Amino acid sequence: MEYEAVIGLEIHAQLLTESKIFCGCSTRFGAEPNENTCPVCTGMPGVLPVLNRRVVELAVRTALALNGEIPRRSVFARKNYFYPDLPKGYQISQFEAPLSLGGYVEIEGAGGTRRVRLTRIHVEEDAGKLVYEGTMDKADAGYVDLNRTGVPLIEIVTEPDIRSPEEAAAFLRKLRSIVRYLGVCDGNMEQGSLRCDANVSVRPVGSEGLGVKTELKNMNSFRFVQHALEYEIQRQIAMLEDGEEIIQETRLWDASKNATLSMRSKEEAHDYRYFPDPDLVPVEIDPAWVEDVRRSLPELPDEKENRFVEVYELPREDARTLTATAELADYFEKVVSLFPQARKVGNWILTGLLRELNRDDREIDECAVKPEHLAGMLAMIEDGGISGKIGKQVLEEMYRTGKGPEAIVKEKGWIQIQDTSELTGIIDQVLASHPEEVDKYRAGKEKVFGFFVGQVMKATRGQANPKLVNDLLRKKLTSGD
Ligand code: ADP
Ligand code: ZN
Ligand code: MG
Repeated sequence: MEYEAVIGLEIHAQLLTESKIFCGCSTRFGAEPNENTCPVCTGMPGVLPVLNRRVVELAVRTALALNGEIPRRSVFARKNYFYPDLPKGYQISQFEAPLSLGGYVEIEGAGGTRRVRLTRIHVEEDAGKLVYEGTMDKADAGYVDLNRTGVPLIEIVTEPDIRSPEEAAAFLRKLRSIVRYLGVCDGNMEQGSLRCDANVSVRPVGSEGLGVKTELKNMNSFRFVQHALEYEIQRQIAMLEDGEEIIQETRLWDASKNATLSMRSKEEAHDYRYFPDPDLVPVEIDPAWVEDVRRSLPELPDEKENRFVEVYELPREDARTLTATAELADYFEKVVSLFPQARKVGNWILTGLLRELNRDDREIDECAVKPEHLAGMLAMIEDGGISGKIGKQVLEEMYRTGKGPEAIVKEKGWIQIQDTSELTGIIDQVLASHPEEVDKYRAGKEKVFGFFVGQVMKATRGQANPKLVNDLLRKKLTSGD
């Protein structure tokens, strides 16, 4: 029997506000434990939450970019459970009336563009963090850090429309790209500002119903999400083939064991006893304001990608990579404005600059090569000052030192040899030391020509002007002297 996977994701994204969702405490990451707290976010009796307007704005911004619909009215509810990182004993979230309904994200799958529908997007507060001394299994002591308590989150829930671990990763990459374009979330999975729970079941190919799902937690990178799903799909298929029943449960991804482990079953699942929070009035959203927010949306990754294909005539794949972040796309456009050969610029960024950046795990805004330096170097190649090969070395130097191309070329003595008499001398030497090849060429073996070019370039350490070398060699070899 052939099986297919059915996957739905629940993504938490931390909104980039200065202050928390229901109090004035800072959201700054890296503060001393419990530095960013007050009576409201530590859940003292008698305090009242006040909704941060900016949270609603950023959530609406995201929802619109994801094609969601914003109902006029949404309601905050209390989600009750006990855990030491939750001082109030409940989390303020949204339940029956979320901020946004529906929407979709388009992803590129094996079979072309696919639409993953969204169920809803709601707003909620984050919980605190437990810090253990020792290891989690065998802690000597545990502490509570409430800096994160009350930091604003949105939760984005998808329909079970995703069909493979690769699609899940593609969805997350796209979503991350969009929230970063919007400036609503920094998308940092390692620091937990973007977190993903994955729900997965399997079913025989061709069947319409849904199988029993498990929920996977604790995955803090795209790679882990993909690995955990791959593992879980195989585990479920193996169970079904053995005639066993899948039980609905929450499982944790253990990256050190490369496996998912059971955390709790449905029987132990919480009953959250949701009810509308009596301390917060329903959020009334003016449709005219929603339209204001819509008009303020930036160009999004898909639109930018399409524009790059149309305007700059870039291959689709290149356009996609160059528009992965707004900063990279801006960088590209800045270089093109100074050196208007878009394909060349694209190639140098993709195969030169991005290779260096990826190796060092850096973003484009941490790149020492200024757009005007890259454009300057391309202009030097264009008018024959340096060869393309030297260009690569100049790029590496610019990346390493932050210096401009002229300074580097001068310092290293990498100016191209344009001097005809100097090159003629070198060519004479090359021909003199390879008489057999010269005979072969003259006997009609055209291919040997490339060998001579290579030898001249080698003798000049790549600094000879290739066009000049070609012309001079051709003249020498046909003239017969
Ligand atoms: P729960 O009540 O367990 O929270 P929901 O119906 O709220 O489940 O769905 C949570 C997530 O799980 C959604 O992203 C949804 O698309 C996904 N999901 C629901 N049922 C299945 C299933 N049978 N297989 C895979 N994913 C599912
Ligand atoms: Zn506070
Ligand atoms: Mg649910």
